[in-house]
Amino acid sequence: SIYLDYNASAPIDSRVLETMMSVYTEDIGNADSRTHEYGDNARNVVETARKQVASLLKVDTGEVFFTSGATESNNIAIRGLEEYADTTSKHHIITTSIEHKAVLETVKHLGNKGYEIDIVAPDEAGRVSTDEILRKVRDDTLLVSVMHVNNETGIIQPVEEIGAELEKRGVLFHVDATQSCGKLVEELQKLKYNMLSFSAHKLRGPQGIGVLVLKKKAYKLPPVKAITFGGQQEHGIRPGTIPVALTAGCGKACELALNEYKDNEKKTESIKKEIMKILDESGIQYQINGDANSCISSAINICIDGVASEALMLSTKQYCGLSNGSACTSHSYSPSYVLSAMGLPVERIENSIRVSWGPETDINLLKENFSELINVAKSMVW
Ligand code: PMP
Repeated sequence: SIYLDYNASAPIDSRVLETMMSVYTEDIGNADSRTHEYGDNARNVVETARKQVASLLKVDTGEVFFTSGATESNNIAIRGLEEYADTTSKHHIITTSIEHKAVLETVKHLGNKGYEIDIVAPDEAGRVSTDEILRKVRDDTLLVSVMHVNNETGIIQPVEEIGAELEKRGVLFHVDATQSCGKLVEELQKLKYNMLSFSAHKLRGPQGIGVLVLKKKAYKLPPVKAITFGGQQEHGIRPGTIPVALTAGCGKACELALNEYKDNEKKTESIKKEIMKILDESGIQYQINGDANSCISSAINICIDGVASEALMLSTKQYCGLSNGSACTSHSYSPSYVLSAMGLPVERIENSIRVSWGPETDINLLKENFSELINVAKSMVW
């Protein structure tokens, strides 16, 4: 079968796995142990990984903090500002309605505590407007949080312009780069931001590890405090024993991404062309959700006329892993909040699926069976 849900989680690269296996077997120990060599070795592994992450993003190693994943990174980036908010009386946050729930729910949590929240909707093309976001900035704006690439549509957001302007105005900017890290490498290296989150498993690293980048401005880190307590690991930003092998896997995935992103991009682009050809040659009526020209090369969100996405997922279950909506919300079917925010009608959303792949995806199976699968799905009463 073919796996077409890379945006939910990409399969681990065998070279990453090898690195991790060797750490699990050889570099045992706690990276914070100072009394023996086991600790020193584990610490070296973590610091090598930190360098690999830093190289991919062109940041200082002192700006890289390991977390359990993008969800935790997003939580720390936002909730970690509470103390600063209180001391500065800045209680206004701007974000977008297409963020991952790890941002949206965290911001809403602060909203319930009395913060003022502005949630900016995208246009029908799936992009948020830089002007609209900047117009909302006020003297008491604590934070602006905008994702780089949307996980459901693959649409690239104008974070470059937003970041450049916010830097001039001295407003804190957080970017959820979970879907772009390791893919839009040069864009991220140039990007102006204060905080950035990602999860290793979206760039073929292991699940359960992620990074929060806190960029120093005038030698100072953003005013973020820990949201959990119990240790001094990661400079107290993320207490708890550092999972050494997971950091090694994360670092290796970043190193591979840096070396291979150009090749990967060519491959994912050509797979997209093949997928479009399959769609065009099948004679079905379909529409792409969001502006195809602003879409990342490894994903697409399409509406197939007359085919309910639920039916299509059932008919294709043995052939390919597809999804509608985000993986985290897909156990309970409700129309995608991202597509709803773009103003798409419910009928169109119900017929929409997201397809996402990696450079090594072989779509021949899809090519051979596509028409039949569509017919089966069409015949299902939904
Ligand atoms: N942000 C975005 C944009 C994502 O796509 C995801 C994963 N679906 C996350 C955050 C959360 O990542 P994780 O579940 O690994 O913490």
